[in-house]
Amino acid sequence: MRDPRFDILFQPVRIGPVVARNRFYQAPHCNGMGNLRPQAHAAMRGIKAEGGWAVVNTEHCSVHPSGDLMPEVLQMLWDDGDIPPLALMVEAVHEHGSLAGVQLAYPAYYNANRMTRDVPLGPMDRPVSGHHPVQVRAMDKSDIKALLGWWKAAAQRARKAGFDILNVDGNFSTIAFQFISPRNQRTDEYGGSLKNRVRLLKGLIEATREGGGDACAVSVRLIIDELFGPEGLRAADEGIEAISLLAELPDLWDLVVGTWADDSPTSRFASENDHEPFMTGIKGVTTKPVVGVGRFTSPDTMAGLIRRGVLDMIGAARPSIADPFLPKKIEEGRYEDIRECIGCNICVSSHFAMTNLRCTQNPTMGEEWRRGWHPERISTRSSDATVLVVGGGPAGLECARALGQRGYQVTLAERRSRLGGRVTLEGELPGLREWLRVRDWRVTQLDKLTNVGVYLESDLGVAEILEFDADEVVLATGSQWRADGVGRAAFKPLALSPSVPVFTPDDIMGGNIPSGQIIVYDDDHYYMGAVIAEKLALAGSNVTLVTPAADVSSFTINTLENIRTAKRLYERGVRMVTHMALTGTHEGQALFVDARTGATEHREADALVLVTARLPRNELFAALTAQLDEGRAGRFRRVSRIGDCEAPAAIYAAVYSGHRFAQEFETSDPTLRRERINLAI
Ligand code: ADP
Ligand code: SF4
Repeated sequence: MRDPRFDILFQPVRIGPVVARNRFYQAPHCNGMGNLRPQAHAAMRGIKAEGGWAVVNTEHCSVHPSGDLMPEVLQMLWDDGDIPPLALMVEAVHEHGSLAGVQLAYPAYYNANRMTRDVPLGPMDRPVSGHHPVQVRAMDKSDIKALLGWWKAAAQRARKAGFDILNVDGNFSTIAFQFISPRNQRTDEYGGSLKNRVRLLKGLIEATREGGGDACAVSVRLIIDELFGPEGLRAADEGIEAISLLAELPDLWDLVVGTWADDSPTSRFASENDHEPFMTGIKGVTTKPVVGVGRFTSPDTMAGLIRRGVLDMIGAARPSIADPFLPKKIEEGRYEDIRECIGCNICVSSHFAMTNLRCTQNPTMGEEWRRGWHPERISTRSSDATVLVVGGGPAGLECARALGQRGYQVTLAERRSRLGGRVTLEGELPGLREWLRVRDWRVTQLDKLTNVGVYLESDLGVAEILEFDADEVVLATGSQWRADGVGRAAFKPLALSPSVPVFTPDDIMGGNIPSGQIIVYDDDHYYMGAVIAEKLALAGSNVTLVTPAADVSSFTINTLENIRTAKRLYERGVRMVTHMALTGTHEGQALFVDARTGATEHREADALVLVTARLPRNELFAALTAQLDEGRAGRFRRVSRIGDCEAPAAIYAAVYSGHRFAQEFETSDPTLRRERINLAI
């Protein structure tokens, strides 16, 4: 039963000519499927609607070839040929009684037109972002007139596709905001005063209204604070004023903050509802519904924002990815079933990888169409087979949970006194607390499954496994960090002298912590090197992080964390050295070679922490395979490896691996559907 204090979240909201059935608004988000994989995209959006999101939006949808944003996988409405892929999504969303929204956009500075080779257009003559050797041409009046025409035509096509809400994107990467920002230095009636700078957005809203007709609502997604200091737009002065100038023109205001990295910060750097300070006062200047985001997963936070008059609708991208059924679960009072987003931004990284959306918490995300997976439902078991899962990290937990959901008799054995594996250990590192949600959600679900037995402090060897007498054995025994320097830069163990004691992340997480002058050598390039450096600096050591890469934590460019990581390390007093590959240690010194020039250098070190690569813990696999080969395995017929035990990777990959094993277990023909290119023009 739902707590009545959350009833407020299920009130309908009028958005111009249409009505949202509740206050849950799936904000636009990239997904790597877009118009390249339209069936996968439609299925994913349809599941959001099924899960109770009253409004389900697309991602960035380009209105014209001169704003192509390629090779990013997004949407486009350049001509009528682009209507059918989007109509598929609308159909999937309507099937579940939700409203479909399209985010009409034109990227200007964020665009080099790498596909169409058109000259990019924008407010001023200046280089495009992303270091492409291309400049934007400043738009003249005829360009602006043309843009308004393209926009109206795209709105007409969106209406034909069946969309209910047409969104004018005034995000950091789009032209409407680039005109509004005080960084717009135009001298005509589109520059200078705020009234002049909002003129383009006003025109775009009107063009959308004309193109969409009476049946479509028009919404605006706008940056309320650019987070760019005095040179940028600030909520307290011109941000709120910009909205008050156009207050009643759109049917809904969807407000965001800064760039994508500010709008979607990871949990290492921001907590739930971090945008609220910027939203205060908006409802005082418009009567139209206001939407905001803030990685909302707590129904209390959501209801509080509505009750206090800050927001009218709860916008969410990441929480809707981690749990497409979040609204339904609140509606049904199943709060403990909410699979809370951990704020890791692996989902964002799939946009940059230009492939199907993936999520650490929700392994079915992006797989709805191509593998036929559903976040809540799974096929029932096809036999009475019993399964022993060894290892209770993310892979083992998810495998046992999903097999249990299918109805199999499962035993999960974990050597430690706590479940969670690496998540439990890493959750104690600076900023990674919310990652424990990967463990906690699965443990809560396992508690509900009477057909899954969980045994802690059960360190299983070959004899115990053979004795156990299960039909199937799944090893999810994880991995350990290497202490020999092998990683991306080094293929063979380095010459490491005992004069510089070596530590690994396993040592640090196990409480074996060095002190003094420490070098953290990061050849892993994700978060681990930086969080270990941060932990050691917080403990009072003098830390230098050295990496052979050009950037600190270079993979985190894909999770929008690299700049904040560098800033945090700087604030903690960690020195950062790039382009330097470790070659060995000698007489109290670490030796490096410049990865570009070959120049060598040495640095004094009391200790060296190697964050390079991991080795799978797969001895059991080898031993059990031998038993099977020799026909001495007793009842069990197969041994499998999942997660880090098979090949160490990020947590999302371990969860996925465990889930996939369970999905495909005793399934004759697991599907991987692909969307093929139709050669007809
Ligand atoms: P993954 O990310 O693949 O899930 P983890 O390293 O997080 O891997 O988890 C592996 C888990 O397996 C750890 O909690 C570890 O204690 C447990 N484990 C490893 N070997 C055994 C074993 N022989 N018996 C029981 N548990 C084991
Ligand atoms: Fe949240 Fe991480 Fe999933 Fe993205 S990938 S939705 S940040 S849990």
